Amino acid sequence: MTTAVIIVAAGRGSRMGGEVAKQWQMLGGKPVLAHTLAAFDGLPVVLVIHPDDRARAEGLGVRLVEGGPSRDASVLAGLQALEGAGVTHVLIHDGARPLVSRGLIDRLVAALDSHAGAAPALPVTDALWRGDGRLVSGTQDRSGLYRAQTPQAFRFAPILAAHRAHKGSAADDVEVARAAGLDVAIVEGEETNLKLTFPGDFARAEAILRGQSMDVRLGNGYDVHAFCDGDHVWLCGVKVPHGRGLLGHSDADVGMHALTDAIYGALAMGDIGRHFPPSDPQWKGAASHIFLAHAIQLAGAQGYRLGNCDVTLVCERPKIGPHAGAMQAELARIMEVEVDRVSVKATTSERLGFTGREEGIAAIATATLVRT
Ligand code: MG
Repeated sequence: MTTAVIIVAAGRGSRMGGEVAKQWQMLGGKPVLAHTLAAFDGLPVVLVIHPDDRARAEGLGVRLVEGGPSRDASVLAGLQALEGAGVTHVLIHDGARPLVSRGLIDRLVAALDSHAGAAPALPVTDALWRGDGRLVSGTQDRSGLYRAQTPQAFRFAPILAAHRAHKGSAADDVEVARAAGLDVAIVEGEETNLKLTFPGDFARAEAILRGQSMDVRLGNGYDVHAFCDGDHVWLCGVKVPHGRGLLGHSDADVGMHALTDAIYGALAMGDIGRHFPPSDPQWKGAASHIFLAHAIQLAGAQGYRLGNCDVTLVCERPKIGPHAGAMQAELARIMEVEVDRVSVKATTSERLGFTGREEGIAAIATATLVRT
């Protein structure tokens, strides 16, 4: 079985506006057709173009065929270009539907095992009216009605014969197939497989692409510092009066260290010790905001921003609750994010273990990083 693809891109897209036809306009940094072609990566493609577009099409690296005066004629030109090449199945697709998924393509090809044709469609769910643009003149029963999409998939020989025999225009290849008596299965389409028709459709497609390229990373961090003599501790950037201090190479801000490690962890880029080696005397007594700012800047350099973070301090004393708001505000200030993305909370360990015996403070932190 050899499946080929015909992408029809010869139209001029008069409803879209703009200097170039819609299939050549930019979407998410590249031409619409580059997205469309990427969706069929690995399959042999014939791209049917308008003769005026040959120069811009040559860079796409696929076989080009010049279309005819109508959509039908363009599809027939594509089919004839594939004739004799051993193609058994063909997908015929509108160039202006750049977001078709691989899953839909695979379902269509699979449906050809039992049908001469298969095409994606979605049931009409909105009420349907007739009208003259000003007033409603009637209603239309929507039961049994579908919104048709492409790619439309066919066994090759029957659809070529159907196009050759078809006289007059057709809305799509399903109409041509049915006129020749071929059965066409309905395969569930996709809302995201939209056809770029009006300028607003580009904004929708861009939003869908951003959603598809979203990358969310999760990291955790854990830290412990022992108590020592002193009269205050630094926790999440806030100086908290206490009968003990915390022992550490830096300011021993256990909460900020856990959070910093969570961010490095989300980036899969090690931990504080890797970026600020304790063996290096310049970090002795360093304020921990240097570490946290470094981690968040590293995230930014990789294209990530903080989605949210959550720090839990584990200690019997000092009481964290009265300071939690100030800690959230300080962490948010250092990371340059909204304060509602930052959580600081505390728990005791029910007097169990080293935190329960008040030998030290532990902290755990989770951070999500988001790239869009
Ligand atoms: Mg530490």
